[in-house]
Order: sequence, then C-alpha cells, then structure tokens
Amino acid sequence: MAIQFEVHAQEEEARCGLLTTRRGEIETPVFMPVGTAGSVKGIRFEELAAADLDARIILGNTYHLWLRPGIEVIKACGGLHNFIGWDRAMLTDSGGFQVWSLTEIRKVTEEGTEFRSHIDGSLKFLSPEISMEVQSVLGAEIAMSFDECPPGQIEHDAARQSMELTLRWAKRSKEAFHELQAGSLRTTGKMPALQQALFGIIQGGAHLDLRRESLERTAEIAFDGYALGGLSVGEEKPVMLDIIEDIAPRMPADRPRYLMGVGTPEDLIESVARGIDMFDCVLPTRNGRNGQAFTARGKLNIKNARFATDTRPLDEQCSCSVCIRHSRAFIRHLYLAGEMLASILLTHHNLAFFLDTMRRVRQAIRSGQFAKFRREFTEQLSSGLE
Ligand SMILES: [Zn+2]
Repeated sequence: MAIQFEVHAQEEEARCGLLTTRRGEIETPVFMPVGTAGSVKGIRFEELAAADLDARIILGNTYHLWLRPGIEVIKACGGLHNFIGWDRAMLTDSGGFQVWSLTEIRKVTEEGTEFRSHIDGSLKFLSPEISMEVQSVLGAEIAMSFDECPPGQIEHDAARQSMELTLRWAKRSKEAFHELQAGSLRTTGKMPALQQALFGIIQGGAHLDLRRESLERTAEIAFDGYALGGLSVGEEKPVMLDIIEDIAPRMPADRPRYLMGVGTPEDLIESVARGIDMFDCVLPTRNGRNGQAFTARGKLNIKNARFATDTRPLDEQCSCSVCIRHSRAFIRHLYLAGEMLASILLTHHNLAFFLDTMRRVRQAIRSGQFAKFRREFTEQLSSGLE
C-alpha cells in the first residue's frame, strides 16, 4: 500500500484520522494549500513547514506543470519534490478540472479532451493515460484519476453521460497508473521510489441518484481513496451540502474522503460534520492577494478605512507569526502602497487560520466536543468584527 489510513476518533459523521505516506504522517481532517504551478502563491516553503502553519501536504496542479515548465524539465530535476524543494507530502490533481475551468475546450471524445492552452493558445490533448504519465513524473504521494468535470447545473441526461465517461476514464486511469508503477518497479528493481496512491473521483452533478451510482461504481474499480469532484462549481450551497451529507457517509469508511476545491471556513466545518477528511482550496491564498483576511469573526477587508489606525492584529485570536508582529494599520498601508509584502502577510495569516481551524477541529473530534465546537465556531464567524 502506498498510503495507510486509520480513523482514530469519530463523533457522529465527523472523523479524525491518520494518513501515513512515505513523506510523513498527516492528521485528518486536513486542509491542503494549493501550489498551482509548483508554488503556493505568496509564501515560501519553509514558512509552510514552520510551526505556526505546519502544512503536512500541499497540492500541485498537473495541468499547469505539464504546460509549464513541462514534464521533461521536472523529470530532469528529479521530480516535483526535488524541483520545488518541498520534502513533505503532495497530492496532484488530474488536470481535468483546469481544462474545464481555464481553457477553451475544442472537443471531448472517448479518447480524451482536446483544448487550447491558456498560456499560448496552442492545441493540446489530455487523456487518462497522459494524465497518469504526467502525474507519475511529478511523483506526488497521491495522484488523482482523470475525470470530466461538468458544470454545476448540468441536466440529468448530460450528467449521466458525463458520469459514464468519467467511469470509463477512471478504469483507464487505474490501468495506466498500475502499468507505470509496475514499470518503475521493473526498472529500479526495488519497491519503487515512485510508489504512489491513486484516488478515484465521484461525479454526477447535482443529481443524488447519479452521485450514488458514481460512488458505487467508482468503489468497484477500487482506489486508495475517494474524492467528491464537481462541487462548488455553480450549484447552490445547500445543494452542495445535501450531496455531501448523502454521499460522504456512504464513501468507503476505511479510505480517505476528499472534497475537491472547497471551500470557505464554514464549508470546511460543515463538510467535516458530514464525514469529509481532506480539503484543498485557493481561497486563503487568492483572497489574501486581494486584500482579504479570514478571521474567527468573519472576513476582514484590509482596504477599509476603518483600519487606518487600527493597531490590533488581523485576528485577535490568531497566534501566527504575522498576527504576533503586525497591525491591521500597517498591512493596510502596505496594501494601499502596492507593496508585495501585503499579499505575503495576508496569505500567511489566511493559511494559518485555515490550518489552525483544522487543528482545532481534530482536537474537538478527539475529545468528543465537535458539536459544541461547530456551534461556537459558526456563531462567532457570523458575529462580525468588533
Ligand atoms: Zn494570524
């Protein structure tokens, strides 16, 4: 097994577990910062690993890295960990979501997806086999099956067709993945350094019957973990939470459950309550660059004039290295002056807030206090800044 997973505590559907990879142990529920092009935007790797953040696993985007710098460069530099200088665990997505969200898709065929690169407009083709090959070169601890990500409001018939295609691609992904892993074993003559885990992705739009069927048939293919894909892509929030509530508890209990691309702090808490173990989202980094801080009392827009002489930290309850040292007034000044340090400080704090929230979630589940934590956290978030 490339990874091991054990659930250590459970309170109703909320689970606290341990995911063991060849690059360290990861307590779940876990938030994974997104390292789009080999960089978690606005933060250095040693800060991600430092005690106030202590990120155990980050995400790399196959689509971006494949287009630039390309797998030949990453291969020549010894894989993604060596290339970027990160020795902890990583997960790479399959590229399916980026193709759908960033590019002009030319056509989707049985074979794969033809699209135009968002960088130079050149024609590209991605298939399950190509995605697996790229992900094996990247060498993350967890790779993702190649899927089609339909829009959130897709009709039942189209959603079924898309789900069937994703299932056929899941089978091909697994076959190609195993061939690559076995090939690595043959060439190195030992347990491959490359040995990776592969997660399957459950699709089906906002249609519960399709979601259930997708789960059942994806589980039949047998993956090391399972992800809920195609959520937070335009459907209403209650629809998303209803799907998670119905599907997460049905996902194999002894495997990690990953909710892709979600979400806000309240989304994370509500999804943990429904049985999810893993998350990734660009919100803390992207919003940080746009001048927004996440705090225990809700979002704070640093541009607001009310912070001009506010000497308090971004979040009075946060003990990250930014909140220990800097005031809202200073970070506001930096932001208005166009100083890059503003983005760096906001990104750092936001990641600290997300990672610390998950630490507190795990503690609460372990001590049987999650229901209380959820109630208090939610109340405080909506109470507003003082
Ligand atoms: Zn902070």
